[in-house]
Amino acid sequence: MEKGLVIVYTGGGKGKTTAALGMALRAVGHNQKICIIQFIKGSWHYGELNSLKRLEPEVELVRMGKGFVGIIDDKSPREEHEKIAKEGIKVSKEKIQSKKYDIIILDEVNYAVNLGLIELNDVLDLIKTKPSELNLVLTGNHVKSEIIEEADLVTEMREIKHPFKSGIKAKKGIDF
Ligand code: ATP
Ligand code: MG
Repeated sequence: MEKGLVIVYTGGGKGKTTAALGMALRAVGHNQKICIIQFIKGSWHYGELNSLKRLEPEVELVRMGKGFVGIIDDKSPREEHEKIAKEGIKVSKEKIQSKKYDIIILDEVNYAVNLGLIELNDVLDLIKTKPSELNLVLTGNHVKSEIIEEADLVTEMREIKHPFKSGIKAKKGIDF
C-alpha cells in the first residue's frame, strides 16, 4: 500500500481552501473517496456546497462550524463555536479511522486551533494515529510548527496583492 501524505496549505495569501478543493476534484477523476470536514465556516453560502453535491458519492462534505468567530456577523456565543469545533474533531477521528476515504480534508482546522476552539494536541493526535495510506489535508493560516513537523507537504500561500486591500469585496465564484 502507498504511504499517504500529510498536506498543509497555510499562509496569508488566497488559495488555501481552493487548493484543497482542486485536489478533491482531481482525485474524484480517479474514483477516489474524499471527505471534507469544514471547521468554522457555516453562515456563508459557498458555491462549493452545491458543486460538491454533484460529486457525491465520491465526495462527502461535513460542516462543523458556525461561521466567522468574533467578527462581523457572528451571532453565536463562543461556547457554541467551541462545542461544534470539538464535535468536528470527534467526527474527523471517526472518518479518519473508518478507512473509507483516500483523502480527508480538514478545512480551516488551523484557524480553529489558533482561536483556541480545539487543542493543538487533538489535531496532532489525528495526524499521528491516521491509517498510513490515508492522505490528510489541513488548511488555514498560521499553522503550528508542531503540525509542520508531522507534514510531508507544506505550501505557504503568500499574498503579493489582494483586491480586498483596494476595497473590492468578496466575489461570487472567486471567493465564495
Ligand atoms: P479561498 O477559500 O479563496 O481559497 P483561503 O482558504 O486561502 O481562500 P481563508 O483564510 O480561508 O482563505 O479565508 C476565507 C476568505 O477570505 C475567502 O473568501 C478568501 O477569498 C478571503 N481571503 C483569503 N486571503 C485573503 C487576504 N489575504 N485578504 C483578504 N481576504 C482574503
Ligand atoms: Mg480557507
